[in-house]
Amino acid sequence: MTRPAPDAARCGARFDRRGWLAGARRVRSPNADARPAGAEVTLVVVHGISLPPGRFGGDAILRLFTNRLDPGAHPAFPAIAALRVSAHFLIRRDGTLLQFVACGERAWHAGASRWRGRERCNDFSIGIELEGTDDRPYTARQYARLAVLVRRLAARWPIREVAGHSDVAPGRKSDPGEAFDWARLARLLGPASGVRVAALGVRGERPPAHGL
Ligand SMILES: [Zn+2]
Repeated sequence: MTRPAPDAARCGARFDRRGWLAGARRVRSPNADARPAGAEVTLVVVHGISLPPGRFGGDAILRLFTNRLDPGAHPAFPAIAALRVSAHFLIRRDGTLLQFVACGERAWHAGASRWRGRERCNDFSIGIELEGTDDRPYTARQYARLAVLVRRLAARWPIREVAGHSDVAPGRKSDPGEAFDWARLARLLGPASGVRVAALGVRGERPPAHGL
């Protein structure tokens, strides 16, 4: 595997020492802690999220990740308002990029999970949420933003694979769903990125649960 690509080193320089990305809107989440000592960050986990479910825009996702979601604001919120969750990044429908947790820290996005024999994917992954649902096409701007972000991450950390939440928590989570086009992401990343879209080869039956 040849890495980094010539432009990748420059991309990697866009992160500060703790792993905050220049140019991303920063919304700090308290739902994070230290990665285990020696944990290598090798995986990107792609998620889909919309709050309220199926509705885009608004600040409910930001509120959930910062423990400020009003349970009375929507019938779907009481069940999730007390969750302590986060992700490193959120990519909105228009491609806007937000960062909640420094990449050097552990965000709480994958829950009970397993990938290639390793448990607790939060320990060794970067979590990226795409604003969307399992069954509505993600936008071109989201794919473009995601591909650039993954390349930049891979220039800084030894990222080897991108997988879906449904791949690391099969049967429990379904996001980013059938609407997510893994082949499209693989094309945008290209072989020079050194990152494998693992989900292309491992996706099985679609699990029934709708994921955060
Ligand atoms: Zn998820």
